[in-house]
Amino acid sequence: MAGTSNSHRSPTLPAPGAAEARAARGLRADGVAAALRDRKVVGVAVGWVDNAGITRAKAVPVGQLGEAAAWGVGAAPCFDVFLVNDAMTDSRWIGGPVGDLRLVPDLDRITPLAAQSGWAWAPGDRLTQDGVPHPGCQRDFARRMVAAAAERGFEVRAGFETEWVVAEAGSRHDEPVFPTEGPAYGMQRVVDLSDYLADLLQAFDDQGLAVLQLHPEYAPGQFEVSSAAADPLAAADHSVLVRQTIRGVSARHDLRCSFAPVVTAGMVGNGGHLHLSLWRDGVNLMHGGPGPHGLTADAEAFLAGVLDALPALLAIGAPSVASYVRLVPSQWAGAFRTWGLENREAALRLITGSRGEAETRANAELKCFDAAANPYLLVGAVLAAGLDGVGRSLTLPPESVGDPARDPAAERLPQRLLESVAAFDRSTVLREALGDPLHDAVAAVRRGEAALFAAATPEEVVAATRWRY
Ligand code: GLU
Ligand code: MG
Repeated sequence: MAGTSNSHRSPTLPAPGAAEARAARGLRADGVAAALRDRKVVGVAVGWVDNAGITRAKAVPVGQLGEAAAWGVGAAPCFDVFLVNDAMTDSRWIGGPVGDLRLVPDLDRITPLAAQSGWAWAPGDRLTQDGVPHPGCQRDFARRMVAAAAERGFEVRAGFETEWVVAEAGSRHDEPVFPTEGPAYGMQRVVDLSDYLADLLQAFDDQGLAVLQLHPEYAPGQFEVSSAAADPLAAADHSVLVRQTIRGVSARHDLRCSFAPVVTAGMVGNGGHLHLSLWRDGVNLMHGGPGPHGLTADAEAFLAGVLDALPALLAIGAPSVASYVRLVPSQWAGAFRTWGLENREAALRLITGSRGEAETRANAELKCFDAAANPYLLVGAVLAAGLDGVGRSLTLPPESVGDPARDPAAERLPQRLLESVAAFDRSTVLREALGDPLHDAVAAVRRGEAALFAAATPEEVVAATRWRY
């Protein structure tokens, strides 16, 4: 049931709050609910990701799906200013105890959850009570940026890599105890957790989630799964669903998982790398052009725009104080504001693919981001920055060849959250794209978390965030 259909709202469609749109959704939901009942689904968890990067949910019994699809489920606007520890801050336009929003499940993306019997998941859009998109709705922001790219004739294909650390469930409040002591990338880990990993692959498959690869990663107990490229809004949905699935399968195996930027201080962290490619009329613009390694002028300008905005983008892609414990050299986290062909220490790794497949495979990987990021905000902000680069016909700076740590000229990305927030505050590109209310709420959450951990050691930051994401 995971939809492949295009759920971008076209300007010619009625507003989501128009009577005919509500009626159509309600009617459609009845059919969806019947299909869910056939699969023994009793509840639908409607999820959204807040500005702190936490996935939150409201659930409805399947019999209420029609009502939820037509009118939405109540959701307080103050969720936009929740911090990682569930404390609330405030922002200029959004926050406080008053008001209501309507969380509307996307019927195209409802997916029965293979590891949670009786449950389905749907990503939610947040509308105001007037039936228009809430200005703070991160999913709507992603949708708007995809539409902005389409208006210029571009299609973007995106896919997230998800890294996580798996621990024994009993370690909930303590340092993690790993269920495998197998070495980095070790086959031993695949043996030790054979049933768990097989169940995971089965669950992805049952849910129609296309994953390309699953492998043991570097840090103790760490694994990674990479999702197939998709439309950016779908890629963000997939990133949420992949994590939900890993949580569900982990729970069934009496395991606990963490997507936090760092799980063990001083150790390699969990990245949330974003792969993307730019297309026009079915042609991959990252291949066959006159620019570096075959980039077309548009693709080069797009990537140059992203590189230009990278310090500001980190306020979205590396949104936690813990993100900066992770974002250090020599961990393949992409701590340098540079680019390079297959360079795993550059924030922007260009990938041409093997000879013979470059036409479809050439893409760029943004390595500096982690899974504390709200994936909707992230794809939207990256698109905004890239389109700005195209608008200004930017070109890439010289390529980083070799480890940027050995190049005295290589610029480090921000090393503290507040540095990224300062760049985010100055970024007119991101402010205009996000709109003032969303931009301001994001900045407020970042400042709130920076204040929360102002006096904390890296170990304390890691301990406080380890089981939050
Ligand atoms: N775990 C690394 C990170 O924090 C990434 C390793 C890799 O290149 O996949 O981003
Ligand atoms: Mg990895």
